[in-house]
Amino acid sequence: MKHVNIPIFIPHVGCPFTCIFCNQRHIASQLEPLSPSAIPELVDQHLATIPPGSEIEIAFFGGSFTMMDVSLQEAYLRQVSPYLIKGLIHGLRLSTRPDGIDPDILKMLKYWGVDTVELGVQSCDDEVLAAAGRGMALLQIVEASRLLKEYGFKLGIQLMVGLPGDNRLKDLATTRVIIGLRPDMVRIYPTLVIAGTELARQWREGSYQELSLPEAVSVCAEMLLMFQYHHIPVIRLGLQPSQELQSAETLLAGPYHPAFGELVEQHIFYMQARELLLDAQALPGRDRPVNLLVNPADVSRLIGQHRRNFLRLEEELGTGLLKVIKSEAIAPDSLGLYYSGENRILTLVREDFIRRLIDRGLLPGED
Ligand code: SF4
Repeated sequence: MKHVNIPIFIPHVGCPFTCIFCNQRHIASQLEPLSPSAIPELVDQHLATIPPGSEIEIAFFGGSFTMMDVSLQEAYLRQVSPYLIKGLIHGLRLSTRPDGIDPDILKMLKYWGVDTVELGVQSCDDEVLAAAGRGMALLQIVEASRLLKEYGFKLGIQLMVGLPGDNRLKDLATTRVIIGLRPDMVRIYPTLVIAGTELARQWREGSYQELSLPEAVSVCAEMLLMFQYHHIPVIRLGLQPSQELQSAETLLAGPYHPAFGELVEQHIFYMQARELLLDAQALPGRDRPVNLLVNPADVSRLIGQHRRNFLRLEEELGTGLLKVIKSEAIAPDSLGLYYSGENRILTLVREDFIRRLIDRGLLPGED
C-alpha cells in the first residue's frame, strides 16, 4: 500500500527556543500561522489528489507541537480527528521536542488519536546539545522516549550530524544510545547553514566549519549500517529538496545534495563491494575478469553516480573492468561475485558485512 503524508506545517508556534541551526523564527515572522479552522480545506485538497487505496497520514511538523498552548494543540487535533474517525486517514503524527513530553500531554494526544510522535533529538551528546542551544540534555531524551513507548506511541527520532562540537565518534555514540531506546523510525539530517540563523553568524566569523559532502555521506553511512544491524528503519536521510534549499541566498553552506540518501546508499555499496573484492583477491590465481552479482533494484547503487564506485574500485584494487550481472537470486543489499569461467560464487550479505566492521572495531558493537 502506498504511504502518503499530508503535511501541515506550523512554523515555530509554541517554541520559546532559538536553536542555532533553526530558521523557523525567521519563517514564522514571514508567515501567518495556519489557523485550526483552515485545516479541513487543506486536508480536503490533499485528499482529492491522493490515489485510492493509499495509506494516509496527517503529519504536523515544524515548531514543537506539544509546546504550544494545550488549547491550541486541541484546536488543531479537533480539526483532523473526524478524518481519522471516518477512516479517511489512517494515522496522525507530529513532531516535538523531548522536553515537551509528559504523561498529561501523552494522554491528551492519545485521546485525539495521535499514534506517532517524532522527537527532535539531534544529538545525545550534552556538549553538542548545549552548543546547539537546544536547552535540554540527554536525560530528557531518554525519559521522553521511555514515556512514549510506555504510552504505546510509535517513536520517531530525528538526528543531526555536523553540529558545532560534533564529530564522527559522537555521532556513533549517539547512534548507540538511540538504538538502546528502540525507536520505530529514525531520520538523519546533515547540518546546513541557513541564512538568518546563529549558525550562519558563527560560520561567517569562522568559528563553525561545516561538514563536507563526503564527510557527511561517510558518517551517515556508518550510522545507517548500525541502525540496519538492529532492524531500525531510517526513513529519511537528508532534507527534502526544496526551492529554498536550492537558493544560495538561503543555503549558505553545508553538505546539501538533493539525493543525499542515495549517495549514502551508494557509499555503502562501495564499501561492501570493496570488502567482497578483497575476499576474492585473497584467493590464489585470480587474474580473470570479475563479475559482480547484484539484485536488479540495487544496480545503480552499486555502480554509483557517474560510475564513481566502479572507477574507484577499479583504481584502488586494480581489478580491471568490473562487470555487473543483475540477479534476482541475490537478495537486496547483498552482493555476489564470480570470476569468468568459474562456477564458484562468493557472496556478502549486508548483515555479515556489518558484523565484520563491528568485529574489526570499525563500528561500535553491542555491550
Ligand atoms: S526547538 Fe525546534 S522549532 Fe524551536 S528553535 Fe529549536 S529546532 Fe527550531
